Amino acid sequence: MAEFMELEGQDGVRMAWNVVPGTKQEASNCVVPVSAIYTPIKPFPSMPVLPYAPLRCRNCRSVLNPFSIVDFAAKIWICPFCFQRNHFPPHYASISDENLPAELFPQYTTIEYQSPREASSLPPVFMFVVDTSIIEEEMAFLKSALSQAIGLLPDNSLVGLITFGTLVHVHELGFGTIPKTYAFKGSKDVSKDQLLEQMGFFLNKPKPSTGVIAGARDGLSSESIARFLLPASDCEFALNSILEELQKDPWPIPVDQRASRCTSTALSVAASLLGACVPGSGARIMAFIGGPSTEGPGAIVSKNLSEPIRSHKDLDKDSAPHYHKAVKFYEALAKQLVHQGHVLDLFACALDQVGVAELKVAVERTGGLVVLAESFGHSVFKDSLRHVFQSGDKDLGLSSNGIFEINCSKDIKVQGILGPCASLEKKGPLCSDTIVGQGSTSAWKLCGLDQATSLCLIFEIVKKDIPDATVQSSSNQFYFQFLTYYQHSTGEMRLRVTTLSRRWVAGPGSIQDLIAGFDQEAAAVVMARLVSFKMEIEAEFDPIRWLDKTLIHICSRFGDYQKDSPSSFSLSPRFSIFPQFMFHLRRSQFVQVFNNSPDETAYFRMILNRENVANSVVMIQPSLISYSFQSVPEPTLLDVAAIAADRILLLDSYFTIVIFHGSTIAQWRKAGYHNQPEHQAFAQLLQAPRDDADAIIKDRFPVPRLVICDQHGSQARFLLAKLNPSATYNSDGHHPEISKS
Ligand SMILES: [Zn+2]
Repeated sequence: MAEFMELEGQDGVRMAWNVVPGTKQEASNCVVPVSAIYTPIKPFPSMPVLPYAPLRCRNCRSVLNPFSIVDFAAKIWICPFCFQRNHFPPHYASISDENLPAELFPQYTTIEYQSPREASSLPPVFMFVVDTSIIEEEMAFLKSALSQAIGLLPDNSLVGLITFGTLVHVHELGFGTIPKTYAFKGSKDVSKDQLLEQMGFFLNKPKPSTGVIAGARDGLSSESIARFLLPASDCEFALNSILEELQKDPWPIPVDQRASRCTSTALSVAASLLGACVPGSGARIMAFIGGPSTEGPGAIVSKNLSEPIRSHKDLDKDSAPHYHKAVKFYEALAKQLVHQGHVLDLFACALDQVGVAELKVAVERTGGLVVLAESFGHSVFKDSLRHVFQSGDKDLGLSSNGIFEINCSKDIKVQGILGPCASLEKKGPLCSDTIVGQGSTSAWKLCGLDQATSLCLIFEIVKKDIPDATVQSSSNQFYFQFLTYYQHSTGEMRLRVTTLSRRWVAGPGSIQDLIAGFDQEAAAVVMARLVSFKMEIEAEFDPIRWLDKTLIHICSRFGDYQKDSPSSFSLSPRFSIFPQFMFHLRRSQFVQVFNNSPDETAYFRMILNRENVANSVVMIQPSLISYSFQSVPEPTLLDVAAIAADRILLLDSYFTIVIFHGSTIAQWRKAGYHNQPEHQAFAQLLQAPRDDADAIIKDRFPVPRLVICDQHGSQARFLLAKLNPSATYNSDGHHPEISKS
């Protein structure tokens, strides 16, 4: 596994098959698809950033890279993708094998180009869309979190504010001390033209100038734009005073009714306003939602409290009356936002469902952030929001306006991407007829992306079976090139180029090579994204059966056994934990959806779809560490046998972190032993898991929920839910292979 992590450390990529099955038949026998999890803007401190434009192949447009064959005498390079011979331009005249440009250094398979022309930095734009149909207590939590966030905004960023409940209110921040708002009916969708008209964008009134703002389009003057989007440094006071005055939605709610909440109309107004003011510039709509949407085209439930909010069962039986209409609305909103290059971030904080399942498409296609918590007062929300604006080494590295493109050797096609992106519908010979996720394209839009954003690419090998003789003679390397154009968090435009080469094998005797190149963690994560995707789009799909079949095929293809002797079965160490991953995936929140609400499932899957391999593995198979006086902290099996009175356990299931004190430890703690000087060792034992949990929490977004509990306490269920009940499991005599590690 270490060598795969080393490759990830160089290129930000993990592939399920690092030796690629070389023919269509071979690839289909391998069950797990040829695939890659790629983190396009993973930070690499030693990666060169070149201050010039890349050289491109004049035939296929791929970028010069270390795998190009260079003829220094003739000043020619041969493209590894299409074998085109390209002349170097005059400014490369001095190159030789002693004087290589950085992009030809063998170790710089990942490199960035910084465009000298577009060095001007567009300010980031934040449009806050705030739910006011919430109780006073939640309102107070939300106001305090927002005012803290406003204080952390970069000074040059532009800020706007929309609030909503029964109505949508667009706040004019450029009016200084006189608060002015424009109200829109929540039940009706507002078109962009209606919006512009109603807000008087074309009235020729003299306005106090607040400086020139880039992005004036649609014939809008910078003065009109500056009424609604102001530099953070100029409007902090105005914003804070509006927030202070902000009241919960004043419309009375009958006792048998839900609050009126027109989430979709508010988001549509926000999108149109940004579309008019700053199209094509990195802008984020940050939506803070405190309850179910009950009004407008994206409503998920009626106001009548006797109608329950849709469950997985309702969705399964197709008896959720609002669901399809709402999803259709958000699909259209996603399209609009992708076209404008804008991001939708969702902060959903309520005990009820708010409609994350319906909103998912708009958040995911635009690469938005999502946080789900029970309350605006919960640390999961508060700390996550702070994390968004935090600078320094835990910076999320929020970037925008990304376009992702790929090139491959001609025997490879792309089925699609599972992850936070939208197809740019660039069809070509590279596109497979089989579509997975965002497919039928070789270019994707990444409106929002950050250092963690990880895309899962699914490939198809199209080479037909060939006689062995020709295998020997032709090149046995496949090449992949990933190109990511994006607006760096500093504002400048960058192009990241990652070029990969992987050996392919085919025919008898190739199995050992395939095994040696199998990255079981990456494979498990690809299967998790695939099974989640299939559950969402394929009616009648049976995930358990599909996973079981996959595992059986893998074992029969790659396992060693003598016929008729099940006990002779063994798997290479390369595959040894893959069955265990499948076992945990079967019972994970991604597959066992009935334990959760549709909002929770949508949330878990959105995070799975954007995280890297290491983080996703923890979501599938939580890690459990045991702390005791007898030994240093050590990983232990996810089994109730791990529980002991004199142990502390630290469970990390990604979304939740549990510190669990065995009963003796809990007694000692309650007796305050850790405060007594003679029991320093106990104080240290108690502190160690806290420190480790803190380190995990600091690194993670969204911030996980921390549960500290004692054996036999009610909160202990957070741990027990993730453990095998070993007593019954081991004693039935049918101990399956999959629980061995
Ligand atoms: Zn080429």
